[in-house]
Amino acid sequence: MENNRLNQAIETLKKTGVRMTPQRYAILEFLLTSMGHPTADEIYRALEEKFPNMSVATIYNNLRVFKEAGLVRELTYGDSSSRFDANMDSHYHIICRECGKIVDFEYPSLINVEEEAARKTGFRVETHRMEIYGICNTCQKEKAV
Ligand SMILES: [Zn+2]
Ligand SMILES: [Zn+2]
Repeated sequence: MENNRLNQAIETLKKTGVRMTPQRYAILEFLLTSMGHPTADEIYRALEEKFPNMSVATIYNNLRVFKEAGLVRELTYGDSSSRFDANMDSHYHIICRECGKIVDFEYPSLINVEEEAARKTGFRVETHRMEIYGICNTCQKEKAV
């Protein structure tokens, strides 16, 4: 499953003429196998042992390449650093207020809200975002101790 996604992503990059390097491959692999929502810093820390010469700037450059190729989405939450999401299926996020973990969940896209917003305001609607906030399972258990 993850390998499939990885192979597809590599194909997509090839088609857009992006050269594959070991670092680029590792970043892509990390994003696709963890399926989390890491920051550039977290990716850096996960890979620094394997690539001691890699800089955070390299991570950012690669993330930009992936973003342009439509392989990752950049998520911004307030003033904290961007997170990167390699799950390109339509989904929403639920975020833990304690540990900041972001979990995907599937839900039909709220097109009705967009239509209603357009109708009521006359805007040409482009997109919307919705996040649910709460306390994750792990943090609930820690609190209960
Ligand atoms: Zn939590
Ligand atoms: Zn996600």
